[in-house]
Amino acid sequence: MALYGGKPIRKELLPYGHHTITKSDIDSVIRVLKSDWLTSGPTIEEFENQFSKYIGSKYSVSFSSGTAALHGSIFAANIMSGDEVITTPFSFCATANCILYQNGKPIFSDINIDTLNIDPNKIENKINNRTKAILPVDFGGQPAELEIIYRIAAKNKLIVIEDACHALGASYGNKKIGNISDMTIFSFHPVKHITTGEGGMVSTNNETFYRRLKIFRNHGINTDSRTRQKNGKWFYEMNELGYNYRLTDIGSALGLSQLHRLEPIIKRRTEIANIYIDNIESIDGINVPKRINNIRHAWHLFPIVLDPKIITVGRNIIFHALRAENIGVNVHYIPIHLHPYYRRMFLFKKGDYPNSETIYNHILSLPLFPAMNDKDIEDVIAAIKKVFKVFKRK
Ligand SMILES: *Cc1c(COP(=O)(O)O)cnc(C)c1O
Repeated sequence: MALYGGKPIRKELLPYGHHTITKSDIDSVIRVLKSDWLTSGPTIEEFENQFSKYIGSKYSVSFSSGTAALHGSIFAANIMSGDEVITTPFSFCATANCILYQNGKPIFSDINIDTLNIDPNKIENKINNRTKAILPVDFGGQPAELEIIYRIAAKNKLIVIEDACHALGASYGNKKIGNISDMTIFSFHPVKHITTGEGGMVSTNNETFYRRLKIFRNHGINTDSRTRQKNGKWFYEMNELGYNYRLTDIGSALGLSQLHRLEPIIKRRTEIANIYIDNIESIDGINVPKRINNIRHAWHLFPIVLDPKIITVGRNIIFHALRAENIGVNVHYIPIHLHPYYRRMFLFKKGDYPNSETIYNHILSLPLFPAMNDKDIEDVIAAIKKVFKVFKRK
C-alpha cells in the first residue's frame, strides 16, 4: 500500500468532483461579456425560463448561491423569530444556517441509516404549534421520502422546502425534483451537476412564494432597474428587508449552456455509479447505496459506508490509505449539530442524533464526476480492493 511507502495506484490525485467546461460554455459567456448586460439582464431571465421548462415548474428564481436561495425560501415561507423548521442533521451546514438567518429555529430529526435521508417516521414527534416547515435534503442525489413527508405536511399545515442541491435531474415517481415541494432549492457550485461559478435557484409553482423570492434577492425592492429603464421610470420602494443575492448574466450564460448538457451529465454519473455498485457491492465490509424503485437518482455523491465488524481500522485510516493511492475520497458530512457553533449556541452534544453520527463515523465519498474516464473508474475500484484486502478481519 502507498500508505506504507508502496507505489500508489495513480500518479496524480483523482479529485472527488470536478466541473466540465466546453467550448460552447466559453462562447456563451463571451457573448454576454460583449453585451450591454453583465447582471440583471436578459440572460438571467432566459436561464430561469429554460430551467423551469426543464423541471416542468411554473417559476424559477435564480440566486447568487444555493445558500442565498435557501435563505430566500425561508424568507418567502415567512419563517420568523421562534418559528421551527424540522430538518436533517446529516447535511452541509447551509441547510440549517438558512433557518438561523431569519431567526428561526432548526429542529433536527435523525436519518434512516439505509437511505441517509431524514427518517419520515420520526418527523411527527417533532411537530408542535411553533413548527412552520419541513426541510428535507435529497442526500447524494437520492430523493427523500417525499410522499410520506407531504402527507405529514398536509395533515399539519406545514410548508415543504426541499434542499435539492444534490438532486438536479432526479425524479420521484413520475415527477421531476423541483416540481413536488412548495419550494425546491438547487446549487450551481462547480462541484454540483451544472455550474454558474457560484449560483443557485429556487423552483416553485406558488405565485406568492415566487414574488417574495424575487423581492428578497433585490434588497426587498419592488421593481428591478431593467424594468424601470424599459418603462422610463425612476421610482422604487423597499418594502421588505432583502439582500443583494442576484445571480449575474455572466454566470447565467454559463449555467444556460451547461443546462443543455444536463441529461448526458446525469447519464454518465449514473453509469459510473452502476459500475461502482457492480464492482464494490460484493466486497465484504463495504455497504454501497441500495438501488431504489420509483426514483431517478441524480448521483451527486457516491457514498460507501464501512462495516466496523469487518474492517480492522477506522474510517480515517481508510481515508488516508486511499488518499495515499491518489484517490480523492472525501467525507460528507460532519453532522450539523456537532459543529462548534451549533454545540455552543444550542448545547448539542455527541449522541443527540445517533444514526447521523454512526454514519458520519463510517462514511466516505468516492470520486464521481462526468469527466472521469474508464481508467479513472478502474483506478478507484483497484485502490479499494487493494486497501480493503489489507484491513479486513481475517
Ligand atoms: C452545495 C450545497 C448547499 C449550498 O450551496 P452553495 O451554492 O454552495 O451555497 C446547500 N445544501 C447542500 C446539501 C449542498 O450540497
